[in-house]
Amino acid sequence: MSFLVEQLERTLQEVERLEKENARLAADKESLAAKVAELESGVPHDNLVDAGRFFLKNLGGGGLDEVPYCGVCKSPMKPHYCSDDPIEFRCAGEACNFALPYRDLVNAFQKYGVKGPAADGS
Ligand SMILES: [Zn+2]
Repeated sequence: MSFLVEQLERTLQEVERLEKENARLAADKESLAAKVAELESGVPHDNLVDAGRFFLKNLGGGGLDEVPYCGVCKSPMKPHYCSDDPIEFRCAGEACNFALPYRDLVNAFQKYGVKGPAADGS
């Protein structure tokens, strides 16, 4: 009977060890996924400024880039037009459907003192 108790204790220790290793691997996986997203976007995330639902790139010296970056995957976003008017920016990321109304971008530019997108035309 004591053999079974010892066996059970060893098994429980092994389970505990595996649970810890699993938690460590899950944390590693998460940080690696973030790193991959950062490298794929070609932009160090440290330079991105949180503008609410999206990001703006810090150009240094207090300037911000006019290109919005996706609030989900941090890829650069591209303008989409209706006639000649930009209506929204969409994420350029393959598997990402994030879209940003043009109005939101203009509001953020005003808030952060960015001159405005070239697409403005005025
Ligand atoms: Zn995205």
